[in-house]
Amino acid sequence: MRLLTTLVCFLWSLGLSLAQIPEKPKLEITKLNENVFVHVTYGMYQNQAIPSNGLIVKTKEGVVLIDTGWDTKDDTDNTRQILQWVEDHLHQPVKLCIVTHSHEDRVGGISELKKAGVRVISTPLTAQKSVQEGYESPEAILPADTTFLIGQVPFRCYFPGEGHTSDNIVVWLPSYRILHGGCLIKSVAVFGMGNIADANLQEWSNSVRKLIRQFGSARFVIPGHDGWGDTKALEHTLHLVEKFNASRH
Ligand SMILES: [Zn+2]
Repeated sequence: MRLLTTLVCFLWSLGLSLAQIPEKPKLEITKLNENVFVHVTYGMYQNQAIPSNGLIVKTKEGVVLIDTGWDTKDDTDNTRQILQWVEDHLHQPVKLCIVTHSHEDRVGGISELKKAGVRVISTPLTAQKSVQEGYESPEAILPADTTFLIGQVPFRCYFPGEGHTSDNIVVWLPSYRILHGGCLIKSVAVFGMGNIADANLQEWSNSVRKLIRQFGSARFVIPGHDGWGDTKALEHTLHLVEKFNASRH
C-alpha cells in the first residue's frame, strides 16, 4: 500500500513538474509592408525561450527567406512552421534562403528547407562553419558584397567585417529600405551582449560603423533577436559594444 502511495505521489509530482516546464511559443509573423514580413521563432538559450528574427520576402518569382527558424539538428519544427505559413498565406513556393551566419538560430532549419527543395545560400565561410557544426552545407556562392535580383527585388548581401561572429553578414533590401542586421545588431530593447562565444569584440564596432555609414537611410533595422525599429539599433549596438569593451579593460 505504501509502495502504491509512493508511486502515485511520484507520478503526480512528475505530472506537475512536466506541466511547469514552459512551452516554447509558436511562430509569430509581423508584416512590415505588403511584401516583407518578420518571422519570429523561439529557441532555448540558458534555459530561457528567446525569440529570433528572420525575414520573409515576397517577390514575383517566389518567396525568399532570410535565415531559417531557430532550430536544431534534431528539431526543425520552427522552420516547418514558417514553410507552412508561407504556403497558407502567400500561396507561393519558397525559392531561396539566405543564411547570415552559421549559428543554430540562422542555419538550424537547413535540413527542413533542403527537404522541401529550397535552395539555401551563404558565403563560403558560413558554409564551411555550418558543416563544422554538423549542419548540411548551404551553397557557398555569396561574395563579400553582392547584389542580385529575384522577381525584380534587389537583395544586397554584405559582409561589413567581424562582430558577433567572423562570418556575420547583413542583408539590405534597397527597395524597401529594410536592413536585416542579424545578430551583429542588438535590439534597443536589449542591454546584454548575448552569445559572444564566437565574437570578435575588437572589430565589432568598426563593422557597425560601416553599417551606419551605408544604411543610415534604413526605415527598418531588424536585429537578430527581440524588438526591431529604426536605425537607433545601429547606434545602440555601437554603444553597447564600446561600453562592454571599456568594462573589460
Ligand atoms: Zn543569434
